[in-house]
Amino acid sequence: EEDARYVVSLIRSIPGFPKEGIVFRDFMPVLADPKALGLLFDALERTLPVPADGFDAVAGLESRGFLFGPALAARLGKGFVPVRKAGKLPPETIGESYDLEYGTASIEIEADMVRPGQRVLIVDDLIATGGTAKAAADLIRRAGGEVAGYSFVMGLDGLDGIARLGDVPVTTLVTMP
Ligand code: IMP
Repeated sequence: EEDARYVVSLIRSIPGFPKEGIVFRDFMPVLADPKALGLLFDALERTLPVPADGFDAVAGLESRGFLFGPALAARLGKGFVPVRKAGKLPPETIGESYDLEYGTASIEIEADMVRPGQRVLIVDDLIATGGTAKAAADLIRRAGGEVAGYSFVMGLDGLDGIARLGDVPVTTLVTMP
């Protein structure tokens, strides 16, 4: 519909960033636009992968999951759990490493941020290969939590990222070519 088209029209595509052959999808202009920002939150709330009473907290992935995860959590009356890149949080932390195209990356949470049995919705701006989201899910489960679902603003067509996430409901607001 028209509102969705308006929001999508603000997503910027930058060829060759961060390296040649990649088209970077940038949703910052959506955040900067007062009308689109409101529509973004309405859409995230309307398309939750599970009803809001099916999870207790929102976990956002650094960095862009931090830009809308806390506000979404507040709208829904939930808490927010930041999943950070390794080395930034004070102890005690638990971490998870995962493979990138070249090398590995690590993410961490403070160990007591997830309560046993807590049901967590994982959010990020974009899912590509799904490696980051999968690592975040493994981390939350190791901390004793349950992954209730995943919500992404953007998915990439042709990459099987969602398939890597297993049998947990996923929504993406828009699929980019
Ligand atoms: P994945 O682990 O391959 O699914 O990559 C997803 C992670 O990389 C997320 O944290 C995204 O924020 C980031 N990312 C990868 N490609 C893009 C892009 O084109 N735009 C914005 N973020 C991206």
